Amino acid sequence: MKTTYIEGITTTAICTKCKEEKTFENFDKCKRMKNGCRSHCKKCRQEERQEKEYKEKHAQFNKKYYHAGFKDYHKEFYEENKEYIKNRMFEYKLKPNVMQRRKDRFKNDEKYRTKVLMRSALYRCLKGKAKEGRTAKLLGYTAIEFLDRFRTDIKTYNDSDIDYHIDHKIPIEWFIDSAPVNIISALDNMQIISATENLHKRHFYADPVSADFALKVIKYIQEQYKDQITII
Ligand SMILES: [Zn+2]
Repeated sequence: MKTTYIEGITTTAICTKCKEEKTFENFDKCKRMKNGCRSHCKKCRQEERQEKEYKEKHAQFNKKYYHAGFKDYHKEFYEENKEYIKNRMFEYKLKPNVMQRRKDRFKNDEKYRTKVLMRSALYRCLKGKAKEGRTAKLLGYTAIEFLDRFRTDIKTYNDSDIDYHIDHKIPIEWFIDSAPVNIISALDNMQIISATENLHKRHFYADPVSADFALKVIKYIQEQYKDQITII
C-alpha cells in the first residue's frame, strides 16, 4: 500500500480497492498494518458490508422460496429490497468495464441492438419526440399504435409517479438467434411494468402471453425455455 509521508507523519493512503488517495480519516485503524490503517477505505468497506448483507439475504430468500418457483421468489425479493437493488443496478451500469461490455454487445449482438434501439425509439415517442418511421419498419407497428395499446398502463404509472419500463413478457434472451425482431417485439409480447419489477425480472422468468401468441412463437424459443412459457 502506497502511503504519503509529510515530515515523517503519514497523512494519506491509497485504497487498494478503489485506488483513490484519501486522508487517514477515511480509513479504519488496524494495528497489524505497517501504516496503521486498513488497505480498503471506509467507503469501500461499507460497500463490502452491504454487498455481503445483500448476498446473505439473497441466500436466505433462495432457501425460503426455492419451492415456490422463480417468479414469486424474485418478486418478493425485489419488493423487500427495492431501493438497494435499484442503486446497485444503477452503479453497476456505470462501471467502465460494464459500459465497455455494453458497447461491444451493441456492436456484435443483433438481438441486443434491436432491443436497445426499439426501447429508445419507443421512449422518444412516449416523450413526444417521435420519429417513428424506422421503428415501424422494424417492428411491424408504429410507436403510436404501441402507445394506443398501453395508454391506460402508462397513464396509471404516470399518475402514481412510479417509474416504468417497457418489458418483453418472454425475455429476449429466451429466443433463438434467428427469431425475427417483429416476433420478439410483437405487441403481444410487450407490457409496461414498474421499473423496479423489471430490474429484478431481467431474463429470469416469462410473464404469461396470449394462447395465440404462444402458439406462434414457440418454435422461436430456445429448447430449455419452452416448458416455461405460460399463457393467460
Ligand atoms: Zn476505497
